[in-house]
Amino acid sequence: MTLLQPPLALLLDVDGPLASPVTRQVTPGIIADLIDLVRRNIPVVFNTGRSDAFITEQLMRPMLEAGLPDGSVVHAICEKGAVWFSFTPSGPGPIHVDRELAMPTAFGDDIRELVARSYADHMFFDETKRAMVSVEQHIEVESGSYLAEQVKFDDDALALLATHDLGATRLEHRAPASSGSVDYRVDPSIISTDIESVRLGKDLGASRAVELLAVQGIVPQSWRTVGDSRTDYAMADWLHHHDHHVIHVDVRPADGVPSKPYTIQTAADLNLGEGVVNDFSGAAFLQHWLDELAR
Ligand SMILES: [Mg+2]
Repeated sequence: MTLLQPPLALLLDVDGPLASPVTRQVTPGIIADLIDLVRRNIPVVFNTGRSDAFITEQLMRPMLEAGLPDGSVVHAICEKGAVWFSFTPSGPGPIHVDRELAMPTAFGDDIRELVARSYADHMFFDETKRAMVSVEQHIEVESGSYLAEQVKFDDDALALLATHDLGATRLEHRAPASSGSVDYRVDPSIISTDIESVRLGKDLGASRAVELLAVQGIVPQSWRTVGDSRTDYAMADWLHHHDHHVIHVDVRPADGVPSKPYTIQTAADLNLGEGVVNDFSGAAFLQHWLDELAR
């Protein structure tokens, strides 16, 4: 196999950098830029906590409709590394699920019931997840009102984990199982709560991305990881730790930019104002890389 060494490879968080946190959709402009990057043989890999169904709907389908170049492959790592698939102009390949990383079904059933019983006005159970258990804010519910309910929901979820003797953490809180193990995590974000194996994460997604490209004989000269959360830095941490060159782009640096042994960029590095965040910043960076490649 010929070794391919593209100048860049993109590892992209979806909610925030590509999908608007408000509409939860991806604009046609971003779809067009992603396709242009693929056309220039830049590997594009999504690395998200979302389900494969969400990626299919919000990214794969529009990219196929807009016209993915012949011979191209796009990889999607979903559910923080537990699920992955690839797609080509002829559609999606098989969905892979790492069953060892899935939540027990009986626990998921109890959460579904809990949401139906007590939280259905504010949130919904994500039926498309295969490994994680995720409960998301209804789009029409006001954020402050959701966040207040979410704290109560997270407490109830921790209580249910204990009922199933599943050791779990939520932020600083730690409740081991009777065996002493802590195998699960309750991970709240501004629009959802994920309940998941502690082995899931953006770092696991990064390792899968490197493997998926290696199978195609692709070893990028440099990576660009893009995210809107602190946890997204784990992509760049992992790549840097494994001797890959990486620059991380933070599209929502409001939480503060941590000190890291690799370069971090924000919209300010493109001479854009502080107000350019999330998918607006993501779109500006895609355009910036296209401009650089065209030089
Ligand atoms: Mg995000």
